[in-house]
Amino acid sequence: MIEIKNLFKLYGTKRAVDNISLTIEKGDVVGFLGPNGAGKTTTMNIITGYISSTLGTVTVDGIDISKEPDKVKKKIGYLPEKPPLYLDMTVEEYLDFVYEIKSVKLPKKEHLAEIMELVKIDDVKDRLIKNLSKGYRQRVGIAQALVGDPEILILDEPTVGLDPKQIKEIRSVIAKLGKDRTVIVSSHILAEIEAICKKVIIINRGKLMAQGTKEELSEKLSAANTLSVRI
Ligand code: ATP
Repeated sequence: MIEIKNLFKLYGTKRAVDNISLTIEKGDVVGFLGPNGAGKTTTMNIITGYISSTLGTVTVDGIDISKEPDKVKKKIGYLPEKPPLYLDMTVEEYLDFVYEIKSVKLPKKEHLAEIMELVKIDDVKDRLIKNLSKGYRQRVGIAQALVGDPEILILDEPTVGLDPKQIKEIRSVIAKLGKDRTVIVSSHILAEIEAICKKVIIINRGKLMAQGTKEELSEKLSAANTLSVRI
């Protein structure tokens, strides 16, 4: 379970995150929905331990990220907006490299083969990453997030810049991953969050505007849509 309490992140006087409190239960598939600059990435970066908060706490299964960051990081796999892919490596070499730096306990060959099958990149495992399409690269990004065998997967705008076929593929991969993991996905596209997530957290100007299931939020979602959230 992820618990965020009174979280703030200030850049100068700018409140990128402005007093957000929320709880995400184990197994939830949750969407952070909000327009550009809403504070989604900043919140995700704090949960994953990439950056620290100005004020407030984030705990994962009761462990405070600011006190025991390594313990929390082991539980989380992260696909940042721009995943750090090594373009001159093959897919398999890259995942092997990530495996080695993460000191994973599962047997390497089987574990990586399972991940590649899960995200549907086994057919390109011997190709250089630089020669892959955007959709495949994004799935390699998701694969690297899975190497540490995380209980929680955080995906920042996983389908941005992809064509409809690639989007469909990524969504089906996320649906599979959400069956036995907690997943948080961010997007500024309402239809995207509706397609992937059971629960929605609407963020705007650093503030949590609403949270609940899609059904509970149907009115607010259409309001958000007319306000600033593109579909
Ligand atoms: P996007 O969809 O564009 O990624 P977002 O919802 O993820 O948007 P954030 O990237 O979290 O939003 O940004 C929230 C606000 O904080 C924005 O106004 C942004 O300009 C500001 N911000 C983010 N990172 C920094 C930084 N390192 N320094 C200064 N301001 C920042």
